[in-house]
Amino acid sequence: MNIYFDVDYTLIAMDGSLRPGTTEVFEKLINDGHSIYIWSGVGMRTDDIERLGLSKFVSSIFVKPITEYEVGLKRFSVSPRPDFVIDDHREIVEVFGGVHVEPYYFRSAEDGHMPELYKAIKDFISTGTSNHRGFKPVSEKE
Ligand SMILES: [Mg+2]
Repeated sequence: MNIYFDVDYTLIAMDGSLRPGTTEVFEKLINDGHSIYIWSGVGMRTDDIERLGLSKFVSSIFVKPITEYEVGLKRFSVSPRPDFVIDDHREIVEVFGGVHVEPYYFRSAEDGHMPELYKAIKDFISTGTSNHRGFKPVSEKE
């Protein structure tokens, strides 16, 4: 799948620190044959991804549409189409399908959301759904 990750409060906290388990999950997703993309509503986050040591896992980085998602994909030349998105904002997850994660605002070694996310992706691949509380199927409207 083409898996798209939001940046702020999905992968990084307010202080810029990386959510625990992110590197491990990115590594596993690549080993499982997925492609990882990064997008952010505030602009290109190439420097952050480089700083966090994630560049080697990431196929491409985009600006994320924050409204009019379908139009936005074209406007920001987002390609390939997201198959699964992970975001702390619910709306975009409801459009493309994926997991709405609890926001990661403050650095916390106890945050266990990344392993749960990986399990949700595995379950989605094998069953077409997930019992993760933030899982959203792709919208039928689009
Ligand atoms: Mg965010």
